[in-house]
Amino acid sequence: MVESRDGMKYIFVTGGVISGLGKGITSSSIGRLLKSRGIKVTAIKIDPYLNCDAGTMNPFEHGEVFVLDDGGEADLDLGNYERFLDVSLTSNHNITTGKVYRLVIEKERMGEYLGKTVQIIPHITNEIKNQIITVAEATGADVCIVELGGTVGDIESMPFLEAVRQMNTEMGKGETCLFVHTTLVPVMGAVGEQKTKPTQHSVKELRAIGIQPDIIVARAKEPLEESIKKKISLFCDVPIEAVVSAPDARSIYDVPMILNDQGITDFIIGRFKLNAKSQDLVDWKDFAHRIVNPNKTVRIALVGKYTHLVDSYISHVEAFHHAGAEAGTKVELLFVDSEVVQHFGPTDELLKADGILIPGGFGNRGIEGKIMAAGFARENKVPYLGVCLGFQIATIEFARNVMDFKGANSTEFAPETGYPVVDLLPEQKHVTKKGASMRLGAQPVVVAENSKAFQLYGSNLIMERHRHRYEVNPKYIEEFETAGWRFTGRSADSVRMEIGELDSHPYYVACQFHPEFKSRPNKPSPLHLGLLKAAIKHRFG
Ligand code: GLN
Repeated sequence: MVESRDGMKYIFVTGGVISGLGKGITSSSIGRLLKSRGIKVTAIKIDPYLNCDAGTMNPFEHGEVFVLDDGGEADLDLGNYERFLDVSLTSNHNITTGKVYRLVIEKERMGEYLGKTVQIIPHITNEIKNQIITVAEATGADVCIVELGGTVGDIESMPFLEAVRQMNTEMGKGETCLFVHTTLVPVMGAVGEQKTKPTQHSVKELRAIGIQPDIIVARAKEPLEESIKKKISLFCDVPIEAVVSAPDARSIYDVPMILNDQGITDFIIGRFKLNAKSQDLVDWKDFAHRIVNPNKTVRIALVGKYTHLVDSYISHVEAFHHAGAEAGTKVELLFVDSEVVQHFGPTDELLKADGILIPGGFGNRGIEGKIMAAGFARENKVPYLGVCLGFQIATIEFARNVMDFKGANSTEFAPETGYPVVDLLPEQKHVTKKGASMRLGAQPVVVAENSKAFQLYGSNLIMERHRHRYEVNPKYIEEFETAGWRFTGRSADSVRMEIGELDSHPYYVACQFHPEFKSRPNKPSPLHLGLLKAAIKHRFG
């Protein structure tokens, strides 16, 4: 039996039919709606994979690795929660199978279960419940949204579903826990009939595990017809007001309003008997409105190697939404594969871009293409923002082509280079283990007052999130600055270079940290906003 604090409520969000239904956005939107009624909300993501965290995963397979203040390398959904809830989460808010099993196995070795056979039920399930409750309660929130990754029926998610089923029973059925099931309603035939069978089947599957959904959020291209809502309500035993339609939205930031208009917020508040205030969604609605009503458009080329999966760069995409809303401008992002640039020179996208972004990345592939893109931006005075790897790339390009350091490189890509202008951080030299071992998380950066960064941040001391092993080699700093690559942001002890700027260029700014991770609606990343404003100037004068 698990103990929980009086009054703490849990909303479990599961997914059925197919993956990629926008469970993360549904969870985040519900959180935002409760927050708009004065309720304190937090969120947890459960990922049923064996990795202990997302840090060792290729973005191409799993999307971006989102970095938290505490240095946690997490699933990208934590980024959605932070952006929608305007909270800062910790790595404990991302629970994975690997994390849970590791803990249980460590406890077993310590002798904590001495004499017992250690099993999935109850030992793993108890650990899952413990982690959820401990993390949720530590935040002091009223409601914790727990999103279960994967699709109901997957072998991997079984222990998690079993654990939350137990939580519901142990905490008094229906009083403390609420289940939201997201499904897909496909459209068939010439007349475009909305089909409920996949939803019925996935609810059946959920029930077989012992979970009856309280709310069904059904994704479909168009809003659900009333008769379809009725049918789902009848077949799945959910009240009609709890069948919520999630049609394609103009922007993800409209989803809270779409759900709210169907009464989901009142339904949840009613079920939990929460003390809620009247709704305040004014700023959110204003922001969401500005995103879809821009008065101009600019093009920004994002030059990277994971360009075939938009989710690999999701925080940059969102940072441009935030900056775009602020500047009344739509950012048309052009994804440019750096390998193509490497082989064929600047692509059409690069030639027509009003701004260029080189994001973070690892490994050799496409590096020379990125260096060419940074050189193209510098020489043609196209606004440029380099983030993490993009900062290192700008440094290499400057060394090679302005300072004439032939073959200058990062030791990540060319260990034998004669000019190692980017080199391993000293504390990384003896690191052998790959997981959670980079320079990670929020670190202070001191910003010089006579800089673009200072104008944009409005402060000479900022906290930004990091994830890197390499840095600008301190041995070349003076030479760089004499040649005009000015380091306007440094670590508090002045040893690490954090921001580089070219004064002779309209906007050529690069940073070792990742400003995209802290960008939020109505609080855009200053450096993305700076790039956007410079791109507007580049295009419209
Ligand atoms: N590969 C580079 C490093 O480890 C850049 C990392 C990044 O862009 N996140 O320093």
